[in-house]
Amino acid sequence: MIRYLLLFFLGLLVYYSLRTALSPASRSSGRKQRQQRMTGQDMVLDPECNTYVVKERAVARRMHGEVMYFCSDSCARKHEEKDRS
Ligand SMILES: [Zn+2]
Repeated sequence: MIRYLLLFFLGLLVYYSLRTALSPASRSSGRKQRQQRMTGQDMVLDPECNTYVVKERAVARRMHGEVMYFCSDSCARKHEEKDRS
């Protein structure tokens, strides 16, 4: 009887270790979409580091007659430098 219980717990252990081993991969994919959905705010994509930023807090720069948004001043500067070269 005890042997069956041990087998049962061993099975549970294998099941949980497999589940935790598999879950991080599925969690990392589609992270950006979930972020966007969660906030419900106006999100803009920073073309420099590919991060979504809340529009109100983003750094806006006018380039080629178009307004572009960045997560930080340094990203905006980097993008401007790339654009110039
Ligand atoms: Zn950035």
